[in-house]
Amino acid sequence: MSHTAELIAVGTELLLGNIANTDAQMLSQGLSALGINVYYHTVVGDNPDRLRAAVELARTRADIIITTGGLGPTCDDLTKTVLADCFGRKLVFHQPSAQRIEAYFQRIHPNRPMTDNNYQQAMLPEGCTVLDNDWGTAPGVAFEQDGVRVIMLPGPPRECTAMFTHRVIPYLKELADGVISSRTLKLFGIGESAMEAQLREKMNAMTNPTLAPYAKEGECELRITAKAADEAAARALMDPVVDDLKAHFGPLVYGVDIPSLEAAVFALLKEKGLTLGTAESCTGGLVAKRMTDLAGVSSVFRGGVVSYATEVKHTVLGVDQALLDQYGAVSEQVARAMAEGARRVLGCDLAISTTGVAGPDPDERGNPVGLVFIGLATPEGTWVRQVNLSMGRQRIRHIAASHGFDLARRYLSGLEMK
Ligand code: ATP
Ligand code: MG
Repeated sequence: MSHTAELIAVGTELLLGNIANTDAQMLSQGLSALGINVYYHTVVGDNPDRLRAAVELARTRADIIITTGGLGPTCDDLTKTVLADCFGRKLVFHQPSAQRIEAYFQRIHPNRPMTDNNYQQAMLPEGCTVLDNDWGTAPGVAFEQDGVRVIMLPGPPRECTAMFTHRVIPYLKELADGVISSRTLKLFGIGESAMEAQLREKMNAMTNPTLAPYAKEGECELRITAKAADEAAARALMDPVVDDLKAHFGPLVYGVDIPSLEAAVFALLKEKGLTLGTAESCTGGLVAKRMTDLAGVSSVFRGGVVSYATEVKHTVLGVDQALLDQYGAVSEQVARAMAEGARRVLGCDLAISTTGVAGPDPDERGNPVGLVFIGLATPEGTWVRQVNLSMGRQRIRHIAASHGFDLARRYLSGLEMK
C-alpha cells in the first residue's frame, strides 16, 4: 500500500519570511527516498486554531502527519497540546524525558539552574512512542490514531535532521513500499525553454520514470525520477532514459549526478594529470573561488591572477601594451593574451581568462554591459568565446565563469571547442 505524508511546519517566523522552511525540504527529500508520497506542505503560525484547522484537513488526505517546531518550553510552543487534543489524547508527564532534559541542560549550562517551564517539554501525549532527542531538549513524539500516524519533531534544523535520520526513518521503514530514486543530467549551453520544447512530448508520455526540467543560473537540469521496489530496479528503469538523453543533447551534457561544471573540470583534470590557473578581470576571482570551493583541488589548481586594472594585465600577465592600446581590455585579443600569460606566469597546463563589462555601465570604449570574452589557453592552442549576457552584474559574472569551465571541460573531453 502506498503511504502519503503531509508536513505541517509551525512557526510565525516562517510566515514572516524571517527563516526559510528548510525542515520541510529535508523531510520531503527523506520521505521520497523512502517511497512515501508527499502531496502537501503547510505552514501555520503559532496559533492554536489555525494549527487545528491544518491538522483536521491533513488527516483527511494523508496517513502520516509530520509537524516541525513548537515543541520547546515557551508559551508559543503549542504543537503537542493541539495535536493531542485533535486526536483525543491527554498530555501526561513522562518522567524519563524529564530526566533526559535535566541531564541535557546540566551538560549545556552547568552553572545555570533549569527553569521550571522546561518540564513542559516532558508533557507528552498518553501512550505515544517517545523519540529521544540526543541533540537538544524537546523530545519528539509519534503515535498512531484512527489510521493516521502523527510525528512531531523539534524545529531547529540540526535537531530536526538528526531526529528524522535516527528516530523517524527507523520508525517509518516498516511502512516503506519501495524507493523513489532520481538521476540528474546537467546541461550547459541550452536554455530551459529550448530544452523543454525538444522534450515536451517525451515528458508527457512518461510515467515511470518521469522527466522534469529545471533552470539554474545559466544552466539546465533534467531530473529523471523512478519509483521501484529497490534501488537497483529504479536504476534499471532510469538508465536507458539517461543514455537516450545524453545521445540527444550530446556535448551540451556536462555530467550526470555531478554537482557543478567546476566539479566536472576538477574530475577531468585529475584524470588527465593536468593543472589549471586563471587570469580574471570582470569575474574578479570567481573562477578561482568556485574552483577552490572544491575540497582536494590543490592537486590540480595552481592559482589565479585578478588583473582588474589594465596596467596589471600588462605588468603581471605580460599582455602586450600595443594590444591593450589597439583593441582595449575587453577584446578577444586581450582575453587570448591573458590566458596565455597566466599559463606562463602560473606554470599551469590550462588557463582560463575572463575580460568583459559586468556593468552597470558600458566601458569607456562603449562596449555594452554583458559583453564578455572568455579564453582558454592550452598546450594545443588558445580558444576565445564571446558572449553577450544581458542580465545583472552578479549573474553576468557567474555565467562568464561558467563559460570558462565549459571551455575547459570541452577541451578536456575532446569535444568541439565552440
Ligand atoms: P525550541 O526548543 O528551540 O523552542 P521548537 O521545537 O519549539 O524548538 P521552534 O520554537 O518552533 O521549535 O523553532 C526553533 C527555531 O528552529 C526557530 O527559531 C527556527 O530558527 C528554527 N525552525 C523552526 N522551524 C523551522 C523550519 N520548518 N525550517 C527551518 N528552521 C526552522
Ligand atoms: Mg520553540
